[in-house]
This record gives sequence, C-alpha cells and structure tokens, in this order.
Amino acid sequence: MPSKTITFLGTGAADATKYYHSCFYIQNKDIGLLVDTGGGNGILSQLEKMNIPLESIRHLFVTHKHIDHLLGIFWILRLLGAKIAKNEAKDLTIYASQNVIKIIQDIAPTFLSEKVTKLFAGKIMFHPIDGETKITIGSWQLEPFNLQSTKEEQFGFRLQFEDGQNFVCLGDEPYKESLLVACKNADYLLHNAFCLERDSARFKPHDMHHSSVKDACDAATTTNAKNLILIHTEDRSTFSNRKKAYIEEATKYYSGNVLVPNDLETIVL
Ligand SMILES: [Zn+2]
Repeated sequence: MPSKTITFLGTGAADATKYYHSCFYIQNKDIGLLVDTGGGNGILSQLEKMNIPLESIRHLFVTHKHIDHLLGIFWILRLLGAKIAKNEAKDLTIYASQNVIKIIQDIAPTFLSEKVTKLFAGKIMFHPIDGETKITIGSWQLEPFNLQSTKEEQFGFRLQFEDGQNFVCLGDEPYKESLLVACKNADYLLHNAFCLERDSARFKPHDMHHSSVKDACDAATTTNAKNLILIHTEDRSTFSNRKKAYIEEATKYYSGNVLVPNDLETIVL
C-alpha cells in the first residue's frame, strides 16, 4: 500500500447522473480524511467498492451546505453512528462551518435514531472551522480557509503532510486572487472544472460559479501548482472521453501535470 493516496468516490457536479457527486478520501498510513459526502446513499456503495470500511472514517470535512456535498452525511451517520453506539467503531469528528454544523444537528433528529443523535454530545464531535485556526490530525496540519464564495459560504483547505508535501482543495469554487497565499506552490491543487472551455457557451460554468478546464489551468499556473486535479464536472458532453478531452485542453494552458480521475480511481500522491 503506497503511503499517501487519494481515492475519488465521486467526481461529478450536482446534476450529474453518470458520476457520483464529488467527494474523496485522503489516506496516509493510519490517518484518513473524507472530504464531502455526495448527495445520497451512493456514498455507502462507493466506499464499499473501494474497500474503505465505515469504521475507518474518523475525520470528515464538509466544504459547504449544497445538496451534492452534504446529504450523504446522514447515511454515514446512520450506519457509522449505529456502529459507534455499539462500540464497533471508535469516534468521528466532523469539520464544518458553524452554519453547516447547525444544519446537520437540526436535521439529524428527523432522520436518525436517538441512539445516533445522542452521540452528538460525545463520540460524534463537531469541530467548527473559521478559516483561521489550524487543525492537527495526527501528523497532518489542516489549514481550512474561506473560499470567499459569493453564492454560499464555503471552505477549502491546505493539507500539509509530514513529508513536506501539500494538497490544496478549492471545493467547487473558482480560484480567486485573494486566495493566492493559501493556494501557492501546491504539490496538488484540486480545482473544479465543470466543462471544457470550448463548451463554455453551452454550459455557462461562470453563471454557476464554476470553472472551465482553462480557468482551472490558469489558476494552477498563477499559483505555481505542480499537479492539477480536475473534478466536479458535467457528464453530458464529455462522459465517454472526459479524461482524454480534459487533459488535451489542459495541456494547452498549463505546463504542470494534470490528473482527471474517474469515480473509484485512486491516485498515489
Ligand atoms: Zn457542488
């Protein structure tokens, strides 16, 4: 097993049906971080297909409250919570904004049994992120930052591994100049790429606060990223050849390495 991996459970945007919603699991030795949960119980089968046992998920980061990022958490809480209640799993820490935490805590009693919700005072912990405070997870330093979204409060993060490499996640928000300090010199920059630049007139990614492949490439060039990972895509024009088409366009605008993972693909970092 390689030491650092990122497993893409989903790579699609909200309305995609041929991909699961964008979410991924970063793993390094005995530490793992699930980032977002997708919009439904598909998260459970994606985890199962990748042999990631629910009880191995101890840290979960939610970028923002949109349906395609948040709703899968209730399925995780339902099943993992039951295991935690029976002492078949340890504890879970959820990192999210105060607003997202409130939504989870408000909705949970509607769907979940009391044996799960009563863990909210103990073994299921909520860690509010404010974009300024660093978080230590084992040997990792997690530095969440506010993506300054104009549509919905959203947090990305810079993750520093103990070997000195780092990974920067921009959620599904476009890079903006004010994020330069948080994003610069990333070993891996994860950026949304809703569609190809040549399909922009059809899909209008900017109207949805998303980006084209070219926009993501410009961000990677500006921030001096070594590797660019593109996810959160539409599935109507490029489903059959997304990897090839995206890489072809990206190499026109960015000289670093471009990765376009499929659902259920693992990348060694
Ligand atoms: Zn999204």
